[in-house]
Amino acid sequence: MVSSLYIHVPFCVRKCVYCDFLSIPHDGETASRYSEALCTELSLVRDSAGPLRTVYMGGGTPTLLGSDDFSQIFERLRRDFALVRDAEITAEANPGTIDSRILGRLYDLGVNRLSIGVQSFDNHVLKTLGRIHSASEATAATEEAKRAGFSNISLDLMYGIPGQTMTSWKETLSLAVDLGPSHISAYELTPEKSTPLFSLLSSGTLTLPDEDLVLRMYDNTIDFLASHGFRHYEISNFALPGHECRHNLNYWERGEYLGIGAGAHSFIEGLRFRNNGDVAQYIADILRSEVPRLDEQQITPKEAIREFIFLGLRRTEGISMTSPLLSGFDLPAALRDLEAGGYLETDSLRFRLTRKGVVISNTVIVELLNALGL
Ligand code: SF4
Repeated sequence: MVSSLYIHVPFCVRKCVYCDFLSIPHDGETASRYSEALCTELSLVRDSAGPLRTVYMGGGTPTLLGSDDFSQIFERLRRDFALVRDAEITAEANPGTIDSRILGRLYDLGVNRLSIGVQSFDNHVLKTLGRIHSASEATAATEEAKRAGFSNISLDLMYGIPGQTMTSWKETLSLAVDLGPSHISAYELTPEKSTPLFSLLSSGTLTLPDEDLVLRMYDNTIDFLASHGFRHYEISNFALPGHECRHNLNYWERGEYLGIGAGAHSFIEGLRFRNNGDVAQYIADILRSEVPRLDEQQITPKEAIREFIFLGLRRTEGISMTSPLLSGFDLPAALRDLEAGGYLETDSLRFRLTRKGVVISNTVIVELLNALGL
């Protein structure tokens, strides 16, 4: 039974230059109607999930919703779904959109994990990214979140940004740790084709740091965060013991999930599908009590194995050698070359990426899939 719920809030103050997420400019009236649609969809799909272990409200910028909108959504969620006693309930927050009032309301509504999109504590880097907040606002937002009662705070950071130096990145990591989060996500900037960043790079207006520097930034991240007690549990994610993101672990374990909101994806009983990404159309459909499933795709056994390996190797604990999905393969033979090259390691129980393998994880995983004939 599905036990993870994702709620998408597709509004932002303005688009960051690197962003290819589903988000549109915020306006209060549309946001209110959207909240109403979310409540309706929660009721329409209430039978699709069992007791929820994780709820994740992401975006976009969820913290652009008003206090009343949040109240309605959470009241409907608790009315139509059961939540396990220690359910992890996360909301993403943009430092440019939060104050003590909204944080207090989220906390009172039962949100017990806050994921703050800091990206950098270097104002020059934040400007390059087109973020709406400054470094000091990110610091103030994190401190305000702690005052509001949040003890499980994740900070999102980004490296490999045009103009970013190793000194700037080290300072960002250090300032992040000083704020006392329980979790840090550190993502390499990936220029997506549809974004203004891609055009700026293509025209030579901006230049990415060279590959060697980006690899060293990542390497430094792993060492620095480990020295401060953060366990590197997924390629881009680090947590103090017991604070791994349970919602995201479910994705990497290829668990089922239900997504509500414009463009939200679901994975249920081997079927992947998504909601309409056109916000106006989404609202209109839902308020007519229709939830069209777009791009329905039944995952084939071969695709399931590919997904299992691709997602499983993202976790540093790796994959069990005795996973039923891998039972028909000569695993030792497929792993041999990558193990000899120092990219994968095995013991009698599991195989996983090594430190050398994790920095080029995509290449290693593709080679493994090829070796398995997938
Ligand atoms: S705040 Fe997040 S979702 Fe919104 S534009 Fe920036 S990166 Fe995209």
